[in-house]
Amino acid sequence: MPEHEVVVVGGGCVGVSTARHLAERGVDVAVVEKEYALAEHQSGRNSGVLHPGFNYEPGTLKARFAVEGTRRMKEYCADRGVPVDECGVFVVALDEEEEKRLDTLKRQADENGTEARIVEAGFVEEHEPHVSDETQAALYAPEAASVDSRKYVHALAGDAETDGATFYMGHELKNVSSADGVHTLRTSKGELEADYVVNAAGLYADRVARYFGVGDGMRVVPFRGEYYELTPDATDLCRTMIYPTPDPELPFLGVHYTRRTDGKVIVGPNAVLAFGREAYTNKQFAVRELAGTLSYGGFWRLVSSRKMLGVAWDELNKSYRKKRFVRASQRLVPEARAEQFVRSYAGVRAQMVSKDGELVKQPVVEHGDASTHVLNAVSPGLTCSLPFGEHLAQEAVDRI
Ligand SMILES: Cc1cc2nc3c(=O)[nH]c(=O)nc-3n(C[C@H](O)[C@H](O)[C@H](O)COP(=O)(O)OP(=O)(O)OC[C@H]3O[C@@H](n4cnc5c(N)ncnc54)[C@H](O)[C@@H]3O)c2cc1C
Repeated sequence: MPEHEVVVVGGGCVGVSTARHLAERGVDVAVVEKEYALAEHQSGRNSGVLHPGFNYEPGTLKARFAVEGTRRMKEYCADRGVPVDECGVFVVALDEEEEKRLDTLKRQADENGTEARIVEAGFVEEHEPHVSDETQAALYAPEAASVDSRKYVHALAGDAETDGATFYMGHELKNVSSADGVHTLRTSKGELEADYVVNAAGLYADRVARYFGVGDGMRVVPFRGEYYELTPDATDLCRTMIYPTPDPELPFLGVHYTRRTDGKVIVGPNAVLAFGREAYTNKQFAVRELAGTLSYGGFWRLVSSRKMLGVAWDELNKSYRKKRFVRASQRLVPEARAEQFVRSYAGVRAQMVSKDGELVKQPVVEHGDASTHVLNAVSPGLTCSLPFGEHLAQEAVDRI
């Protein structure tokens, strides 16, 4: 049976970054991934935006990792030839209430140490001529960028492999038994032994944690984010990235326009309850997983607030009715016409919800016997993945 010092469960950006940082330190590390390709789930199905840190509460781990992660990822991608478009982002305020909220974002940017300034409508129009006439002002964050997230994860995996990491693809972890300081991992393709395990299983992180007796008290509730893309004749409607002013009470940023590194402009994502953790369309169901969500008290406490019910209804409408999605998008760019929106891909967020019905917004990492569990990587997990993976690698080394 193969034996390794550390086994990382999950071949997304968090798991592969952790493996790369462990391999770099000379640790004998392996990645166990259930799919036959890396970055098949959240890490390859996101907006691909490097969020430079204006959106996060100062002093938090998330804020520190976002600022550092953005800078490090740009350097890393430049070095490895991974496409990055350093186009910056405009967070647009369309009324006075939103304009006031820009001040909070600006203050957070200053405290977190990332560049951002509040600009007048005229400045926005110079860069984004198709943005709404109702624009009062915007926060301009030049450090924001767009990255090819799949190529990034593959580059990281290449580095890890060069430094000696092993990848077990198509191996789904099914169960674990532990004795005499060694974990025996039962996978769909045989057993492996590990002195230490890092669980970065994303949408299934809570389930994997339970194999180690960890993670009671919260559960992943899967929220699907769906995208449209603009037809080629309409991509000039967004030249950088155009975001609405976020609602501080919600963990999702709202439908936005992102110019990707391949020149496509994607619009989205919305946020609807997915009927399975990997249910990428509203026709896909995983009955047991849906039953798991619906029998979870935390889920019902979450949706019982009047505000959340309203948001859920609105997001559901955007999922089933293109007209509603387009109308929400036209709030930022009124010239965009329905026929210029084509359905594109979707991703499912592993949103951790506590038993009290709180959406957990900070990263949650718990430890078990000779194991570390990333129970909540949360957005912007891609942006944070270099410092976060390094942090997890260090924790594993310290605890082996
Ligand atoms: C719609 C959407 C938009 C987003 N936009 C952004 C953005 O613009 N910028 C940003 O920074 N972040 C963004 N994020 C967040 C970011 O994508 C995630 O935080 C990040 O990808 C999480 O990475 P991960 O490695 O933890 O999880 P994942 O990428 O989901 O990887 C987990 C891996 O574990 C594997 N796995 C699961 N169970 C098992 C098992 N039992 N055995 C073996 N393998 C297993 C899965 O197959 C998967 O490959 C977005 C997320 C979504 C869904």
